[in-house]
Amino acid sequence: MEMGDEGQGDDAVWQIGVFDSHCHPTDIMASVNDIADMKARVLTVMATRAEDQEMVEKTAKMYPIDFKLDVSNPNSRYVVPAFGWHPWFSHQMYDDRDQKGRPEAVEHYRSVLVPTPDDDDFLHALPTPRSLSEFLKQTEARLQEFPFALVGEVGLDRGFRLPEGPSATTGDMGNKTGGSEEEYTPGSREGRPLTPYRVDMDHQKIILRAQLELAAKMRRPVSVHGVQAHGHVFDLMQSMWKGHERPSKRERKRRPDAPNAHPQDDAETDKDLPFPPRICMHSYSGPPDALKQFLNPTVPANIYFSFSTAVNFSNASSAKVTSVIKGVPDNRILIESDLHCAGERMDELLEEIVRRVCEIKEWSIQHGAQQLKQNWTKFVFG
Ligand SMILES: [Zn+2]
Repeated sequence: MEMGDEGQGDDAVWQIGVFDSHCHPTDIMASVNDIADMKARVLTVMATRAEDQEMVEKTAKMYPIDFKLDVSNPNSRYVVPAFGWHPWFSHQMYDDRDQKGRPEAVEHYRSVLVPTPDDDDFLHALPTPRSLSEFLKQTEARLQEFPFALVGEVGLDRGFRLPEGPSATTGDMGNKTGGSEEEYTPGSREGRPLTPYRVDMDHQKIILRAQLELAAKMRRPVSVHGVQAHGHVFDLMQSMWKGHERPSKRERKRRPDAPNAHPQDDAETDKDLPFPPRICMHSYSGPPDALKQFLNPTVPANIYFSFSTAVNFSNASSAKVTSVIKGVPDNRILIESDLHCAGERMDELLEEIVRRVCEIKEWSIQHGAQQLKQNWTKFVFG
């Protein structure tokens, strides 16, 4: 820590600006009014399912960014929207890009859930499946409407199981911070018991890949959820950028005049690349070793890693996350709250993760806040 930080640290961080790279305030829609009074300058707000796409859009209109430079204004609050379909809801979508039309609902769910459910009550309580091509069309329109919007939250999850029964719509679901008396947006999994059913990994990959392709087409960054599936996420992304790898050091030495000898910026400028230019692995929980493949110099997309107090420091694994954070290059690290409710608690969690990252990186709090601001700006705006 540098001299002088201790005294003015608190205010300095907020004055420089804190940029939440991944959160879900529309899960408690009433809380988005509190964004105006928050200390954090920018929230990157994720959509996850049918119920929240429009809410994210509405929230972004309440706190609009018209120019990239807007976010340097310390007196305003901004929302960057992200539109996407989360892996926890991937079973609700059917792939109709082959023009096949809507499958019979029970048949569809029996084909994408494992183990195959034979519980009729459970199957019939599931929502009518949705068309993937319809969703892609709507999402593309939203991305066009919001030139700074991301694609997210998308991803793969090998650990999650479907919750039982229909989702609750009112808030007596225990004591989730900030939400106990407010209305939860339908579709949320809060407080519901779990079934044994998972979504087949191949199906999750179809839904993820389609959204990554849309992000590639629109040249947008992506916020990716990976739980017990980092290898799968990497393999899928690698299959998308196959043939576009940056040359390795050895190749650059051998053929200094090769056509893509300086391709570092290709992912930003080339309109026709089949993979997204920037990818954030949100609440990154993979092992330190798995970082190496994402950060390999031949990877042509810019991969960022985001950390939250809630996910990354909630249990005994903090020794692991400490070594992961140390291993992430300074310009590729982001912070997030991943919280379902805007307000004071979100600010607290953000401040805590900024401090933890600064401690681990041995940055002064001011240097750290500057670096994290710069990283977020690079990630979102390119
Ligand atoms: Zn999330």
